[in-house]
Amino acid sequence: MLFNVRQETLPREEIEALQLRRLRNVCERVYANVPFYRKQFEALGVRPADVKSLADVKLLPFSEKQDLRNHYPYGLFAVPKDNIVRLHASSGTTGKAVVLGYTARDLEIWSEIAARSLMAAGVTRSDIVHVAYGYGLFTGGLGAHGGAECIGATVVPASGGASRRQAHLMRDFGATVLCCTPTYALHLWEAGLEVGIDFHDLPLRVGVFGAEPWTEAMRRDMEEKMGIDAMNIYGLTEIMGPGVAMECAASKCGLHVWEDHFLPEIIDPVTGEQLPPGETGELVLTTLTKEGVPLIRFRTRDLTSLDYSPCICGRTHARIARLRGRTDDMLIIRGVNVFPQQIESLLMESEGLTPNYQIIVDRVDNLDTLEVRVEVSDTLFADEIRKLQMLETRLQKNIKEFLGVSTKVRLMEPHSIARSEGKALRIVDNRSKEL
Ligand code: ADP
Ligand code: ZN
Repeated sequence: MLFNVRQETLPREEIEALQLRRLRNVCERVYANVPFYRKQFEALGVRPADVKSLADVKLLPFSEKQDLRNHYPYGLFAVPKDNIVRLHASSGTTGKAVVLGYTARDLEIWSEIAARSLMAAGVTRSDIVHVAYGYGLFTGGLGAHGGAECIGATVVPASGGASRRQAHLMRDFGATVLCCTPTYALHLWEAGLEVGIDFHDLPLRVGVFGAEPWTEAMRRDMEEKMGIDAMNIYGLTEIMGPGVAMECAASKCGLHVWEDHFLPEIIDPVTGEQLPPGETGELVLTTLTKEGVPLIRFRTRDLTSLDYSPCICGRTHARIARLRGRTDDMLIIRGVNVFPQQIESLLMESEGLTPNYQIIVDRVDNLDTLEVRVEVSDTLFADEIRKLQMLETRLQKNIKEFLGVSTKVRLMEPHSIARSEGKALRIVDNRSKEL
């Protein structure tokens, strides 16, 4: 089912005409109201009127998280403060927080796109939606909440924490949809089992998981463990919050970016040049309708590719591929580029390993070292030591073969790696401590 049939199925020419109109409009708004942008435009010698086609987006300046930090808290707001009805801040995974302001219309649009997203995952007004994303300055909780209410579903605003109690609530209230980070979903599932609640016995049928990178292998694992369809939702505070892009249940292949509100581009993160559809690079987003803090060519640091081919679900909006992680998450180990998700995929291919893992980077005698700690299942843990050692050796060999780096793999006892209620801490980089 589609939440907004007309907008979600607009023919490509109409999407592009709408985007161009809105792009010109947002350029005019920031040029007139945000001194930072006026300066950026002037430095490049470009004026809003120079945007005559969508391709002209290339003429516009980029913006990035650091610009928001430099103008903390309100410096990039484009409307008078009286028009702002809510503030959110990014969770600060990669440094000092940034603050974003929303007008009433921004919140309406956000709820609408979150509703589209949930419905693309298969949520309807008959569902009971358990929202275990954190509520607060983080956009996850209120974002999913607004979308579910907009559809007319029943929302349980559980937020993060008290996991065993949450498992009880899910059972007692008959949750059919769970919204949270993929790692917290696994934690809730474990907490449930500890108190005798198996997700397979609940009416739960859909998971709406996002806010951090995860892999196809992890999806398969979670779908099996929980008896659900595990769907991928993407968003970021700077642009709006969860619901900027979402997978559809029909294809489960790529996330539709709601193009009537966001203009996506993929660039080479080093040169800043636009890359053609299909090529992997950094996702850049321009907000087309946002009033509070519109952003022009915002560099997300997230790596993906764009696909404009038609989707079997009937939606015409372009799809981004499952996010490969952030450019900031890339580890350089003795000159080799490594993403945590590549290691995750390799781990998940082995029977008996859980998705609870951590990567410890250190520097010993001026040499980078990489250690992968991964928890094993209870059954595997009960097995012979020799078998576990063989598995360690095999994993080390696989990682060396596929990623080209030597690692030490340590199989850990079940439940020995700290659980997160929000985004998982995958990388512990001890090298930076030396500085
Ligand atoms: P922070 O940058 O402090 O983590 P946010 O809470 O706004 O701020 O998180 C947004 C970021 O979370 C995105 O830029 C992206 O890196 C990550 N993210 C969100 N959804 C997904 C997803 N489905 N897959 C991978 N990464 C995601
Ligand atoms: Zn689709």
